[in-house]
Amino acid sequence: MEIEITTVGGYEEVGRQMTAVRMDDDIVIFDMGLNLSQVLIHDNVQTERMHSLDLIDMGAIPDDRVMSELDGEIKAIVPTHGHLDHIGAIPKLAHRYDAPVVATPFTIELVREQIRDEDKFDVQNDLQVMNAGETMRIGDKTEMEFVNVTHSTIDAINPVLHTPEGAIVYGLDKRIDHNPVLGDPFDMKRFREIGREGEGVLCYLEDCTNANRKGRTPSESVARKELHDTMLSLEDYDGGMVATTFASHIARVSSLLEFAQEIGRKPILLGRSMEKYTGTATHLDVDLPDDIEMYGHRRAIDQSLNRIMKDGKENFLPIVTGHQGEPRALLTRMGRGETNYDFDNGDKVIFSAGIIPEPTNEGNRYQSERLLKMQGARIYDDIHVSGHLSQEGHYQMLDALQPKELIPAHQNLKGLSGYVDTANSFGYEVGRDLHISRNGNILQLTE
Ligand SMILES: [Zn+2]
Repeated sequence: MEIEITTVGGYEEVGRQMTAVRMDDDIVIFDMGLNLSQVLIHDNVQTERMHSLDLIDMGAIPDDRVMSELDGEIKAIVPTHGHLDHIGAIPKLAHRYDAPVVATPFTIELVREQIRDEDKFDVQNDLQVMNAGETMRIGDKTEMEFVNVTHSTIDAINPVLHTPEGAIVYGLDKRIDHNPVLGDPFDMKRFREIGREGEGVLCYLEDCTNANRKGRTPSESVARKELHDTMLSLEDYDGGMVATTFASHIARVSSLLEFAQEIGRKPILLGRSMEKYTGTATHLDVDLPDDIEMYGHRRAIDQSLNRIMKDGKENFLPIVTGHQGEPRALLTRMGRGETNYDFDNGDKVIFSAGIIPEPTNEGNRYQSERLLKMQGARIYDDIHVSGHLSQEGHYQMLDALQPKELIPAHQNLKGLSGYVDTANSFGYEVGRDLHISRNGNILQLTE
């Protein structure tokens, strides 16, 4: 079987992931993502109304024109989880391919919302749900399997293509978590089996976001414990308390909801993306508290903040958007004094998020924190663990899978260097079996 991997996007940056695997005449596309920082850097860009080619020129979505060089039929578009750097380009690119989008339930719902918001293109691809542990036929020689992984959003999987030449494991995005707060633990047992059964693993593509970090990424239960301890230590504070986190991080949002109630505050989710992600999760089989109060529209948010001020802000925990200091997010607007929520000296702001290391975020977050501090707020920041593997996690994956060929992804060259070190210590060599690719490259694995 002839196998070829096209690294379409996300091989020179973190963001706009897209990879195509051709097995003879059958092609599977993994991820179709957005590079959000390339969008945010322009003021007032509304991607909903933009054409694909303009977004490609901006570096915001993958340049999929290389796909015309592939000789075969697209069988499926498979986003691995619901983060925008993996699904955000589906409304702009998927309609060009006559193939279903296949993903886990939460991811599919988020894709459905993305498509609904799209103004420019009429996206008609079938949306097909597949759960972790399930398989699907791709042509007559290959089977695709979803293996359960753990990440900073729920329902993440790693797809595996079982071909006659061996398995192709697409490893984006994950950390190894045996105690996730929501969902099943990381399925290391299955990865070990895949590494040893049949022809073994022909090729492994890896999430290198944190490849330069040594050690092991802690479990979500560690962040949950720290958050619990922080909030309990503030139990007697009788003023304002506000929390922010990644809206798509359902496990973290769930912990915030639970601990707010434990310390006698009513949690209210505020902000468009808070309502979107948690709202979507409540419609699925996700273990969340009943009747969560949440508002996404400006008027409803204003009304809710009015009520909080009137009834006494010591009785509430608004959980809001703005963990990266995004200029138009609610927490930033609160910091600028644009809402009716007033901070008093000593009020608490909990950032249950790290800063995504990127100059725009760093600047925005600095500004947001300064504005909050100027109003007297006390900042509790970085109550968080990353959703991505560090070096020892990468080592463990190589040990489990023993792949013949390796393709690191989801980073720029500098970010990939740590992965090269880890892979070298396992015996892989750049140019031989460790392939540092670029956007738009086609790598032939078997003939
Ligand atoms: Zn992700």
